[in-house]
Amino acid sequence: MRSLIAGNWKMNGRMADLRRIVAPLGAAAGQLGCDLLICPPATLLAPAARLLDGTAVALGGQDCSALADGAHTGELAAGMLHDAGARWVILGHSERRANHGESDAAVRAKVLAAQAAGLAPIVCVGEHEAQRLDGQAVAVVSGQLAGSLPDGFAGVVAYEPVWAVGTGRTPGEADVAQTHMAIRAALVARFGTAGRGMRILYGGSVKPCNAAALLAVPEVGGALVGGASLDAEDFLAIARAAPQLSKAGQGG
Ligand code: PEP
Repeated sequence: MRSLIAGNWKMNGRMADLRRIVAPLGAAAGQLGCDLLICPPATLLAPAARLLDGTAVALGGQDCSALADGAHTGELAAGMLHDAGARWVILGHSERRANHGESDAAVRAKVLAAQAAGLAPIVCVGEHEAQRLDGQAVAVVSGQLAGSLPDGFAGVVAYEPVWAVGTGRTPGEADVAQTHMAIRAALVARFGTAGRGMRILYGGSVKPCNAAALLAVPEVGGALVGGASLDAEDFLAIARAAPQLSKAGQGG
């Protein structure tokens, strides 16, 4: 299975940034042995789709409503993201869980809406620092998975320790391996064979300098990258640090 390197631009980026960042990504993506995805703000999805047309860079949103069209001022339906060119959507990011009070049940409803609209969800889970220090990391993540993933889930999980997001700090490789193996076990227990093939991304302060080590950890199937995805060279350096596999050789 090819690694997925996904960029979460968060609330950053104007048209000038889009042009500057996507041109080198579009030029390089076809030669990479991993999959490349960018998730810019919703305002940039349609122009990004035009600029990326014919390239191997995929496009995603950063959130969607659990609801379809209607009287929901300020919300974006999953179908609208799809209409603008997105094929992926990040859901349950720790910033949305913390700043918008998103519960596991709310994330699960959004996953269902995303899948119904033809978007592949990337569902984020991760423990707070106090929970890790208390030895609760795996239990917290397992609980989030159980609550956030609906039956029939067909997407990607991103393990993002909350204390590592945007801080420059990362867990040790042994801790990443332990949590990713626990996530894999939970996915297989719940979804059987399908759970074996689901990619599990690591996210939290992935940079060119630590990407090779993090991406080599067993069961790490790629990275969800925040800050470093706003610099095309850094983002490509991370992508080149991922295990490289041709499309033909990617397996199931
Ligand atoms: C993120 O926002 O998902 C993230 C991992 O951010 P950063 O890479 O900046 O830590």
